[in-house]
Order: sequence, then C-alpha cells, then structure tokens
Amino acid sequence: MITQVDHIGIAVQDLEDAMTLYRTLFQVADFHREQVADQGVDIASFQLGEVRIELTAPLHAESPIAKFIEKRGEGIHHVAFRSDAITSDLAGLASNGIRLINEQPQRGAHEMLIAFLHPKSTGGVLMELCSEDG
Ligand code: ZN
Repeated sequence: MITQVDHIGIAVQDLEDAMTLYRTLFQVADFHREQVADQGVDIASFQLGEVRIELTAPLHAESPIAKFIEKRGEGIHHVAFRSDAITSDLAGLASNGIRLINEQPQRGAHEMLIAFLHPKSTGGVLMELCSEDG
C-alpha cells in the first residue's frame, strides 16, 4: 500500500550552489549527503516535516540526471511515494497496465528500495515508489 509522499527529487547541476540556495530558502542546517553510484547521482537531502527534499546532481555525463537536465533543465525530477510493500505494489500497478521503468526494486539513497514508474503511464510525472524493505 502507498502511504504517503516520501520525498521530492529536484535535479540540480551543482550541488554546492543548490545547498546554498536551500539554506537561504529554508534555513537548512544540515544536509544528509550521499552518492548512489548505481543511479549516477550525488545527493544532498533534508527533511521538511513528513517530506524529504532531495537535491540530486549528476555524478557523470551518463547519469540519468545529466540527461534530464540536458533535455529539460533543472527543476522537479520526480515525486516519490512511500510503499509498505513495494514488490506487491509494483506487481499490482503493472497488472493495472502501468508501465514500470524498474520491474524489480533497486537500491536507492537512505538504504531504501526504489522503483520508478514510466511517466508515459503517469500523466507525465516521473513517480518513484520507495520502501524501507521489500
Ligand atoms: Zn527519489
């Protein structure tokens, strides 16, 4: 079951510049820093109430984030929804005709399992399901 919005992923070119901006916007004292090599991303995130904001910069030119910024510029990249049973939620979505980018959950930031849904199936919004365990 999907229980809440977990985080919003924001594509940024330069993580240091973005952290400076978000410190100004929200007086963020501490960012959680993490690189996810599998996804080609360098992340700085902070919690805002129930929702985490994830500033995500590309680790290299082949990163999906680099390609996203090249095509669409910086901005909102995806909305992530927390699932308490990601494998069965994915199967349920697929059986209802939703296209999945990741058929199987992948390892994401914060030790979470993540899977993306195809924006062609979700009205143009890149959505992610994430879960603390399978
Ligand atoms: Zn995410």
